[in-house]
Amino acid sequence: MSQVRVRFAPSPTGFFHIGSARTALFNWLYARHTGGVFVLRIEDTDQARNSEEFLNVIYDSLTWLGMTWDEGPKVGGNYGPYRQSERGPIYKEYLQKLIDAGRAYEKDGAVWFKLLGDRSEVYDDHRQKTVTKVANTPAVIDDQIRGRVERLEDEDFVIFRSDGNPVFHFVNVVDDIAMKITHVIRGEDHLSNTSKHVELFKAFGVQPPVFAHIPLILKQNGPGKMSKRDQGALIEEYQKRGYLPEALVNFLSLLGWSPKDDREKMPIADIIALFDFPGINQSNARFDDKKLAHMNMAYLLELTADVFVVQARAYYEKLGTPVAAVALAADPVYFREVLLISQPKIKGLEELPAYTAYFFAEDFAIDAKVRDKVMGKGDPKARLAELAEALATADFSSDTAIEETIKALATAKGLGFGDYQSVARLAVSGTNVGPSLTSMFRVLGRERVLASFARLAA
Ligand code: GLU
Repeated sequence: MSQVRVRFAPSPTGFFHIGSARTALFNWLYARHTGGVFVLRIEDTDQARNSEEFLNVIYDSLTWLGMTWDEGPKVGGNYGPYRQSERGPIYKEYLQKLIDAGRAYEKDGAVWFKLLGDRSEVYDDHRQKTVTKVANTPAVIDDQIRGRVERLEDEDFVIFRSDGNPVFHFVNVVDDIAMKITHVIRGEDHLSNTSKHVELFKAFGVQPPVFAHIPLILKQNGPGKMSKRDQGALIEEYQKRGYLPEALVNFLSLLGWSPKDDREKMPIADIIALFDFPGINQSNARFDDKKLAHMNMAYLLELTADVFVVQARAYYEKLGTPVAAVALAADPVYFREVLLISQPKIKGLEELPAYTAYFFAEDFAIDAKVRDKVMGKGDPKARLAELAEALATADFSSDTAIEETIKALATAKGLGFGDYQSVARLAVSGTNVGPSLTSMFRVLGRERVLASFARLAA
């Protein structure tokens, strides 16, 4: 077979969301899997609803996610221009072909596509008017995911509006023909349009491309399709929040597709190698932000120390808040240590500033609820005093050395490590969550640890 050519054809009418990104990704993966060409085509014929801002978000998001396009805006190609708003003459040319073949006519200022078959006037109760029905045979779609789908088109439809603008069905098909698209991979919501498209392909005397309609993405809670307005829907958000694009791509790949062995976390090379139509599910996928967060955590954990620190610093720099500025102004070696002991504990870079704030402030807040709970049980002040005494001469050079000191103290007092843990954590951090206690001690250093003990005991 000839080289695979797929396209991602967004309409820039809103911010770039999870559903669009997933459609783009499946096309990109199929192109990479088959050694084909990934085309980016901008469907911006609806002038009133398109914006340049949304267009730039599409370019930025695709680039951020690593889905580089082989043909399209900015990179060019042999079948351009790649913005429908610049393809007016091509549409005129294709319209002429239909007119010449007797398959288009004008009525009420609009241009209509003419179906083949006997015609009869029928009163349509629902629309309360007489319509012309055409005795046509159903269009057959051998969908790679849905299987064989038949759908009857029995009424002519508009292809150019009375304002002179071409209609989606027409430009979509013309461009798929002109750009030599071999496979159309798009959301299942377009399945109902496909019979119109098949009729148009046939009218142009062109074999329709292979269709693959991918399952919808359902919103996290409740029924219905995820929309741009749903929480967590916008790709840009994840970029701002410091998510790793690799994690997001891995997560998106699993929205409606799975490899045979049910693996989840996979390097992109493996996803490309395994991605194919048989692995795409018929059933709808459900968006799950916890799964995404866990995926991101898994990817964060894998970053080498140097890469993690570079990414985290870049995130703080972009953030530009006072808290971020204080951390960036701190000793870089200290900041690095704080970041590295937090790396295994956070789900996303976005958590870091709040998670580590007390490392950069002497007078950090003490969570009242946690304090009441911790201080209300046993004799925490005595524990703190014992620990202070032991730590005064302890070796702070490694987590293990600190751990041994605490364990030895606990054994000597007939207690457990846990008896010292919560109160010590409360003292150094003001809360009950954070990096490992011994790592915190090591990074903060003896002086600050003892000072925080004194502050809590006071
Ligand atoms: N512009 C259409 C959309 O954004 C593309 C449909 C298609 O991929 O054929 O839904």
